[in-house]
This record gives sequence, structure tokens and C-alpha cells, in this order.
Amino acid sequence: MNILMVASECFPFIKTGGLGDVVGALPRALAHFGCNVRVVLPNYPSAAAQLGKSRPIASMDDLFGGPATVVAARGKDGRDLVLIDAPHLYDRPGNPYLGPDGRDWSDNHLRFAALSLAAARFAREAPDGWHPDVVHCHDWQAGLTPFYLAQIGGAHLPAIFTIHNLAFQGLFPASEVQTLGLPPQAFTPAGFEYYGQLSFLKAGLVFSDRLTTVSPTYAVELQTPQFGMGFDGLLRSRQADLVGILNGIDETVWNPEADPFIAKPYSPRSLAGKKINRAALQAKMGLEPDPAALLVSVISRLTDQKGLDLLAETLPRLVELGGQLALLGSGAADLEMMFRAAGANYPGRVGVRIDYDEPLSPLLLAGADAILVPSRFEPCGLTQLYGLRYGTIPIVARTGGLAIPSSIDPINAEGLSRALTRAAVLFADGRCWSNLVQAAMRQSVGWSHSAARYRELYDTVIARGRNDRVGATGTAAGGFS
Ligand code: ADP
Repeated sequence: MNILMVASECFPFIKTGGLGDVVGALPRALAHFGCNVRVVLPNYPSAAAQLGKSRPIASMDDLFGGPATVVAARGKDGRDLVLIDAPHLYDRPGNPYLGPDGRDWSDNHLRFAALSLAAARFAREAPDGWHPDVVHCHDWQAGLTPFYLAQIGGAHLPAIFTIHNLAFQGLFPASEVQTLGLPPQAFTPAGFEYYGQLSFLKAGLVFSDRLTTVSPTYAVELQTPQFGMGFDGLLRSRQADLVGILNGIDETVWNPEADPFIAKPYSPRSLAGKKINRAALQAKMGLEPDPAALLVSVISRLTDQKGLDLLAETLPRLVELGGQLALLGSGAADLEMMFRAAGANYPGRVGVRIDYDEPLSPLLLAGADAILVPSRFEPCGLTQLYGLRYGTIPIVARTGGLAIPSSIDPINAEGLSRALTRAAVLFADGRCWSNLVQAAMRQSVGWSHSAARYRELYDTVIARGRNDRVGATGTAAGGFS
């Protein structure tokens, strides 16, 4: 079975968060279930360094303002990519969404409509003879793909849309409908209009055969006004087509027995290495070399979603408990400032690195006792799963993919303070804590179970036949030449 995935991120080529991890790991897991996956990705500069062989297979004279080449590429690790090489859109270093001033690129609507259109063309025209059986789109950047697939026309080609985070809605002014050459008759509440704006996310939600999201709990939550972010009505109307499939992790990448970025490998059978990582982490983050401190890590985007303002409030309690904090994160200026100040207020107890630093993150997992994820909402969350793998106990909010009975509940400073106190009590009992660490490391957090669910879903949509959600077929701008 051939699966074409469309996404704006795929580890190790480009990643800003969980989306990149999932699109990096899921194709490899699906290979064990008979799926041959190719990922369509913009040809960002960061991708080039990770590529093995590549060859051009199609071209477009004008993809929203410049020429584009479709390149079949193979990553150094063997994965198959289809790169959309359009320098006028993607040849920009750094974060894929933000310019050097920290704001969204002003042409993001063109950049990601281009990704979706080129992917749809590739799927329909199969320029190198490879025909997908299913097109699997991830998040708003790929949201227009199902619409374009239908608009180009042809035999039914099922489209699945995965919601990684409903907070990112790909909203643009109504005037861009025309810029993008989208048919005005689809700019209605039944199409991709969202309260007077164009929403790429909504296009994905409306025009795909099936919808998935990244945990069963979030699949229920996002149908409620509290978590639905204005899309709960639409998602309730598509309830029968919506399923939550829990994310896994790539156990070959996140592996304390063979991680090149940690100070010393270790396993549940031999935890001695974890102490060495702890000392290395304390040194790296300017923390006192205190062997008795409950050392808590955070690796996160600094945004309101992640609830880290609650942590800033609770820091005096953590320090009073004899704990330490190692935080790696970047994002909102006020939160960055808050944590810089916390580092200065608690020297030796609070170590802060305001940065996005992928090679540093495994040391924060390996060296800490606990990983803290106090999110207000969390579709799945991956760092807590990495924590389990590294024997670093998750302290998490009771929401979405994090929801477990002993979590932070209610999600406020008091709930967090209570959870930290419980962790400190457990940690003080050395025998009990090391049992917990070993049990955590033995938990199954890989992809095999969930990859099997995706495979079942692919089988279902293929069997289901024609999708008539989009009535109109016609021609979308800029076919391959
Ligand atoms: P989200 O996708 O909402 O950001 P997830 O927990 O699903 O949250 O995934 C976050 C991913 O990004 C993890 O792989 C995490 O290690 C990584 N990450 C987040 N912030 C940083 C950072 N500052 N430096 C390095 N990696 C980070």
C-alpha cells in the first residue's frame, strides 16, 4: 500500500515540535505494516544537509510567484521524501514559519497553499509512476490538499487529515481566497470560511474523508466548546469520521542505551549511567551538584498552552522542597523573561536555557528525575513519553494525551504545587523511586500499536470508495510541465 504524507515538518529534516517527530517516526513504523510511505515536504535549506540521493521528477512554471521543481529524494537514513523545491517560497533559513523578526512570514498562505497544491498534483499525476492509495495530510499547512485533490479531479483518492493541534488554524484574510485562486463558491461556512476568514485547517476538516487526532482523549475534548477552539460544532458533525490514535515515539532515536547526545548510556537493568547524566546536566545548566535534589526538567515551547506560567508561580515551592529545575525552551517574550528572571533569583537551583536546542534535549531527559508538562491543553504531548523511555517520571496535567489519574488536577498553581510535593515525597524513598524509574522505562511507548491503527484506517478508507464531499471538480492553477 502506498501512502503519501503531506506535512510542513519531518524530523530530522525540519522540526519545531511534535508534528516533526510524528511525521519523522510514523512512516518508519508503518513500513512494518506493509505501507510504503513518501513524505511531501517543502525543500527548506535544513533538509539539504540530511539528504542522500535526489533527482528532479517534475516541474511547475509558476507555483504562486515562481518556478518549482518536484524532487524525489532519499534521506541519509533511507526515508523517501518528495521535496517541493520552490526557492521563492522556501529558501529561507531557520524556523519554517517565522521570519527573523519573530513574526509569521507574510506569505505563509502562499507557501503552504503551494505545498498542498504541489502535493495534490504529485498524487494525481504520479510523475515517476508511483501512485498513492491514500493521501495523509498533517495540520493546517497541508489543509488545502484534500480540496485540491478533488478540484483537480480523477478517480477517488481517499484523504485523511490529522489534527496535531487545533490551536493552529491557518487563518488568513478573505482577500487571499482570490490571491490563491480558490473558488469563491467554496468560501462559505460549509467550506473553508471561518467567521469571515479563510482557514486552511477548516479546509482539511471539511474536505477529508476521515479525521484523526493524536490521542483518544483529545478526540473527545475537541468536540467540546472548552477545547474545540470554535471548531467543536464542525467536529461533532464529523464525529463518525473522527478517531483518536495515540502518538508513539521513535525508540531508535530516543534510546538511553544508545543516545549519542547524553553523557553516559544506561538501561533499566543498569541505572548507574543516569547518575552521571544527572551530574552532567547539573554542570551544563549551572545547577549545584546536589545528589539529593529532585531534579525536574522542562523541554517546551514557551506558550500559554504549556502552562509554564504556573510553574513560575510554583518555583518557590519546588526550591523549598529541595528541588531543582532545568528548563530548555523558547517562545513568548514574557515567559522567556519570566524564566530568565527565575534563573537569576534562584542561582544553583533553577537553570534556564532560552533556546531551541535539539541536541541538548536528551541530556535534560537523561539527567533529570522528573519531566514536567503542566499544559492547559495537550493533544498528545511527546516529552512525557520520552521521559518514560529515559526513566524520568512524568509530572503532567490531566488533559488530552497526558491524562492519567495521578496527574496535576486541577490545572493551576495549587494543583501543580501538590503534584510536586507528591513527587518529592516519593523521591525521598529511594527504593520506591527506583522501582518507579524501572517500571517507566519498561513501558511500551513505541509506535507499533498505533501504526497498526493507522493501517486499519487506510484499509477502511480505501474500501469505502468515492468521496463526494467536494462536488465541484475542475482545474487548479499550475499543473506540472
Ligand atoms: P508541541 O508539539 O506542542 O510543541 P510535543 O511535546 O508534542 O509539543 O513535542 C515537542 C517536541 O519538540 C519534542 O520533541 C521536544 O523535545 C521538542 N522541543 C520543544 N522545545 C524544544 C527546545 N526548546 N529545544 C529542543 N527541543 C524542543
